[in-house]
Parts: sequence; structure tokens; C-alpha cells
Amino acid sequence: MNKRDPIEDLADLRHEFGEHGGVNMSIEASTTFTVIDPHTMPDLFEGRKGPDKGCYLYGRHFNPTVFNLGRQMAALESTEAGYCTASGMAAISGTVLCLCDAGDEVVASNAMYGGTFAFLHDFLPAKTRIRTRFVDITDLDAVANAITDKTRLLITESVSNPTLRLANIPQLANIAQRRGVSLVVDNTFSPFVLRPAVLGADVVVHSITKFISGASDVIAGAICGSDAFIGELMDLHTGPLMLLGPTMDPGIASALSLRIPHLPLRMAAHGERALEICRRLSALGLAVSYPGLPEHPDHALFDELCCPDFGYGGVFTLDLGDEEAANALMSSLQNEQRFGYLAVSLGYFDTLMSCSGSSTSSEMSDEGKQEAGISPGLVRVSIGYTGTLEQRWNQLLAALKETGIVE
Ligand code: PLP
Repeated sequence: MNKRDPIEDLADLRHEFGEHGGVNMSIEASTTFTVIDPHTMPDLFEGRKGPDKGCYLYGRHFNPTVFNLGRQMAALESTEAGYCTASGMAAISGTVLCLCDAGDEVVASNAMYGGTFAFLHDFLPAKTRIRTRFVDITDLDAVANAITDKTRLLITESVSNPTLRLANIPQLANIAQRRGVSLVVDNTFSPFVLRPAVLGADVVVHSITKFISGASDVIAGAICGSDAFIGELMDLHTGPLMLLGPTMDPGIASALSLRIPHLPLRMAAHGERALEICRRLSALGLAVSYPGLPEHPDHALFDELCCPDFGYGGVFTLDLGDEEAANALMSSLQNEQRFGYLAVSLGYFDTLMSCSGSSTSSEMSDEGKQEAGISPGLVRVSIGYTGTLEQRWNQLLAALKETGIVE
């Protein structure tokens, strides 16, 4: 783990210029690579040579452009290495499959993205006999008690989707370390805002699809961890990424690398807009939840763990009690007021809204949703930064009035 400022590390990487001195890195379009000396081929296959020595073998293994984006992701998360994948789910599933063998156990937060939940709850036991115990990640005793001799990893989102509870990463890292399990943190909601590896996580995963991309046009993911762990993921015999093949396209890697330089500005802009809107919603007496509000249960912990320059993230929730009221508000916000879009996902430059219980958390049982605090009327809002604050606030207020939520 590297404690330097990620912005400085990223600036250093941008000083490695493109093939012809271009200010941006070149796109390597080849899927296969020549060796001048035939003896290099066995060296590559047996892992004695690799991209760290400028030697490439095959694009599903390592591609120079994708490898470089991985280095940028490692700089962003202050880890030794990073590897980019075709989706966030590929990053999560590859990580879990790398750390666990058949019959092992996982301890997971009971409030995670529905796809992650389904992978752990349904897919893994059926296909691999890997079983997961779900716990309230804010209850550190429950976490410690759920770990058994079979547990290989503890997995949580830094900020839970959609309930916005903050994982106490240093305390979870303590527990994980004492019990000899790896701590994996999904930092999709809070790039730059939280630095899980600096706080003690062993592996950080991302859905790049969200804030890092920022334009809702690309599905992508990343795994950040030690050199040894990335090596294991890419092992020719047992590496889940190498063998299952969720490979990122080099053209996509190049496009994404051009968005990382303005990611800190975008995170700060999302956070600033979210905080002000949430303050105003709270002043109206509405059931708004956002880590930046003093009444949020993890506000003080967030202040302790976060990097203050980037705000409290771009997602908040508004609980409208029932799904009908939630749908009426979202419909007015999209179709009458043009405040944002009724769509899943997050991290877009415009606002996205969805009712989590019936969309991105619908994989969970009603009981599971209740335990995690996902009520039927909970609207998750990923706030954009387009337009001005006052324009957007007037649209939101008009929709709240039109649907009778405020007078
Ligand atoms: N992690 C979180 C927190 C998410 O919200 C999502 C998707 O919504 C994912 C992972 C999965 O990412 P992807 O859709 O890129 O596979």
C-alpha cells in the first residue's frame, strides 16, 4: 500500500507519454505480441517475464493500454497493482473466486448491490458450494461472530447501496487481520472520497461504469490490490480473470483513462450539489439520508475516514413511504420537470433515480430488504451536476408540490 497522494501518482503516470510523444497514452490494438527471441515465449508462459518487464503475450492476459489503466486505478486506490475488467461484476466475481475454493465461506454485508447479493446468495452456493453469511456490517460483533475457520474473505461496500451506511474499514480490517481473512471493499460509490486500501482493505473493487466513467456509456470494472493478488487473478492455470475472460477492450481503456483526470472535480461537484439539496430536503422535514447531513448515523465516522476535498459522495435517498408515492415523484421529476431520469445506475453527469426495492435490490427477499433498511418507498438519487443548483432545486420543489409531498 502506498500512502502518497493519488493525484500526484496519477500525474506521474500521465508523464509516460504515448507512442509518438502524444500527451495521451496510445491504444495498443493488437491481441497478440511477437517475441524476437523464441526463448522469451516459455518465459512468458511460466511467468518469468510479463508486462512489468515490458513483455506481453496475449490480449486476454495483459494488453498494454488496459494494463496502463490498471496502473492508474492502482494509483487512484493507493495499491501496488490494479487490473481492469469488462464490468464491476467481473471484478467482484473474479476477486471472490480467486480468494475462495469450493466449500469455503464468505462474510458479507447484508446491504450490497443486488447483483453482488445474488452472486453470493444464489450463484456461488449452487455452482461452487461457497456459502455466504450476511451480517449488518455496522455491527462489528456480528461481523466477528460470523467468521469461522472456513471464512476466506469479508466483503462490503464502502458506502452501502442503497442504504448509504459507511463501513468502518479500519475496524473491519482489524477483525479481518486478526482472523486471517481478506477484507474486500467495493468503493464504487466513493472514488477519491474514501481510500479503502489506505484504511486497511486488502482488495478494492470498482464498478467503473458509475462515477469513474461518469457518462453512463461504458460498462467496466477494476480490481486493485497487491502485485501478488493481481498475479493470482491472471495465473494461466488457476486465475479466474485469465480463464473466465472478462477482458476490457483497449479502446475502452483509453477512453476511460481520459476521464480519470477530471474525476476529482466531478466527485466534488456531485458532493457539493448533493449536500445542498439534502440540506434543503431535510429542512422541509423529509426523510432524506445522506452521509453529509449531521443527523446521518455515520456522519462523524465519515468525517474521520474521508478525504475532505471531495465531499460526501453523489448519492442520497429519500424515503417516501410507499412505492406509489415514489413512482409519482420520479415520474413528475422526469416527465414534467426534467430534473433527471427514472433509470437505474449512478455516477452519471445528470441525475438518475430509482426505487431500489423494486429495481437494483429486487434480488433480495422482502425480509432481507427490511433487515437492510430498504423500504418500498426508498428512492435512490444519484445527483448530477448539470444545470445550476437553483434550477434543479426549483424543479425538485415543483415536483414535490405537484405530488402533494410538500405544500
Ligand atoms: N458494485 C456496486 C456498488 C454497484 O452499484 C454495481 C452496479 O450497480 C456493481 C458493483 C456492478 O457493476 P457493473 O454493472 O459495472 O457490473
